Amino acid sequence: MESTTSAAAAADLADPPLPAAGDDDPAALAERFEPAAAEELVAWALDRYAGRLALVTSLQAEGVVLLDLAHRLAGGRPGGLDGLLRVVSLDTGRLHPETYDLVDRVRERFGVEVELVFPEAAAVEALVRRAGPNLFYASPEARRECCRVRKVEPLARALAPFDAWLTGLRRGQSAARRATPKIGLDGNDRTGRRFKLAPLADWSEERVWRHVRERGLPYHPLYDQGYRSIGCAPCSRPSRPAEPARAGRWWWESDEARECGLHLVTIGVGGTRAGANGGRP
Ligand code: SF4
Repeated sequence: MESTTSAAAAADLADPPLPAAGDDDPAALAERFEPAAAEELVAWALDRYAGRLALVTSLQAEGVVLLDLAHRLAGGRPGGLDGLLRVVSLDTGRLHPETYDLVDRVRERFGVEVELVFPEAAAVEALVRRAGPNLFYASPEARRECCRVRKVEPLARALAPFDAWLTGLRRGQSAARRATPKIGLDGNDRTGRRFKLAPLADWSEERVWRHVRERGLPYHPLYDQGYRSIGCAPCSRPSRPAEPARAGRWWWESDEARECGLHLVTIGVGGTRAGANGGRP
């Protein structure tokens, strides 16, 4: 009898039941992790959301740094990153050719699958037939419609199985990202329960590049041509050092408008609305 009880207790200790992600309090977590190092938040996420965690990256320097942190932190565990984290990237159909080369280099370096997610072909066809292939230059509304079809909807679909995702957002990238919490709720998730984690929120651009160089990480070759933020080819261009890092994205629009909608709203400390939309819901 005694040994059965001990065995049951040991099994409990070995495999504690995980509470549902929705039981976590976003405001309390945001407060707890605000002073934490990036590694601490990534390590916690790998434990807390093991198998239910995605790293969403367009393979800019920040995303590769995050993958490097996760890869190193998972290194001591059986199976490494497998089973803990999946790497997701949006293939909008309008990426730079160099981005695809980088996908291969990242796969090789970390031994992970980079899961490319595509927009619905029928939705892209309808959009292009109606408004033309370069509709994004016509108006902010047309640009946002293209981002919605090619980015926001595919990501919402891809994230459905996950309880949390990691993103390389940094507060210093633009005015709209200044209030990015390190942990909050994904404002695009209709269930209101998926967590969005930005462990590099308080990193500077210099710190990101120091990490890339010290670790010899693969990076997008367009950075060497003056790009500081790289997305779709028709919507990215180089920017000057004195400009905000994202000044080369949708450069024909005003500063506040320059977001694709992936990071529209997150809920941070105290349940406040904040994030990459400048506070607009
Ligand atoms: Fe379309 Fe440009 Fe948005 Fe890419 S960044 S989805 S091409 S509007």
